[in-house]
Amino acid sequence: MKTIVLASGNQGKLREFAQILAAFHFEIVPQSQFNVPDVEETGLSFVENALIKARNAAQHTGLPAMSDDSGIEIDALKGAPGIYSARFAGVGASDEDNNRLLLDKLKAVPDDQRIARYHCVIVYMHHANDPMPLICQGTWEGRILHAPRGENGFGYDPLFYVPTHDCASAELPPAVKNQLSHRGQALRALQAALMVS
Ligand code: IMP
Repeated sequence: MKTIVLASGNQGKLREFAQILAAFHFEIVPQSQFNVPDVEETGLSFVENALIKARNAAQHTGLPAMSDDSGIEIDALKGAPGIYSARFAGVGASDEDNNRLLLDKLKAVPDDQRIARYHCVIVYMHHANDPMPLICQGTWEGRILHAPRGENGFGYDPLFYVPTHDCASAELPPAVKNQLSHRGQALRALQAALMVS
């Protein structure tokens, strides 16, 4: 079975990768198992950061690598936090810190202007110098709630209202989130691309 190193240490992402790729005929091993050092995300787009992370993991392991760069974009904040979603409240911020800051910044914003979307870019590199990496993406539209709801998911999920299901993303069962989510969409596109590559 082919081994692919996964360039992420985010437990929420790792859990969702494992759920979505359960039927995938590859062994997906997190980069922590190879002691891959984190790399600085210096890109200005999800695509650039995903490439940086996948290349770093492939370079340090000599294995094919896959990465996820994702985040939430909020119209009333002119697209912030976007690529800075993990560090919205500062480097090392917890999900709770980020969610608190987000609620604070949106406290005067009415419901119809709390429009938001998650983006996810997944990159697969056959090797560190791969000139044709596979790049797949997904987007999930929603709104920001006024208070957290639900226990599932991670990150901004307790504040992300899903209009099609009339609940927060953190209230969805994991299988339903994976069916709808930006990450689910991107990973299914990658699976299809890998079958023909
Ligand atoms: P990255 O590790 O630099 O890609 O940062 C991703 C950040 O975006 C996470 O730490 C979360 O704050 C946010 N994010 C991405 N995907 C999700 C999701 O599915 N649910 C909630 N938050 C997410």
